[in-house]
Amino acid sequence: MDNDRRMTVTNSAQETEELGFRVGTFLKNGGAVTVCLYGDLGAGKTTFVKGFAAAFGVAAREIGSASFVIVAEYETVPPFYHIDLYRLPDEPCMEDIGLWEYIESGGVAVVEWAEKLGEAPDGAVSVKFEYMGEDKRRISFEGFDGIGWDKFVKDPGGK
Ligand code: ADP
Ligand code: MG
Repeated sequence: MDNDRRMTVTNSAQETEELGFRVGTFLKNGGAVTVCLYGDLGAGKTTFVKGFAAAFGVAAREIGSASFVIVAEYETVPPFYHIDLYRLPDEPCMEDIGLWEYIESGGVAVVEWAEKLGEAPDGAVSVKFEYMGEDKRRISFEGFDGIGWDKFVKDPGGK
């Protein structure tokens, strides 16, 4: 693991959701940003997005409720986009989904299965989820340097 990756460990889905809420609250007022989420099925990405979305006033139950939806757009201020590339083929798809348009709209886009974008967009931040045990996940952050990641990670579980 890259030493510059900042990480924390959560011990329940609720903790991951709360972490998502803190990150969402923090990024909401920081201008257009893409948040790339990486990790296997069941690693906790959608759980994190539920908390993140709550920071925009979007109810957790709306998140991921229709599994066939690739881009869910919420008319919040700023606009919030939840993009889930799970069902797309493993080919770079950044152009296909029109990600640039979302970014240029000044919104905040959170992308699950960001591996499939090909390359992360300029200025994107990333969050990586790893399964450590039934209720335990390691969650690490990149790209938050200079924007104070420690503000939302309650208990940095190491560097
Ligand atoms: P993904 O979107 O990465 O496929 P989900 O968030 O949909 O993953 O699913 C994660 C599953 O793991 C949920 O059933 C959740 O309740 C469970 N879980 C258990 N512990 C945690 C944790 N610490 N963080 C996130 N999810 C957890
Ligand atoms: Mg998911």
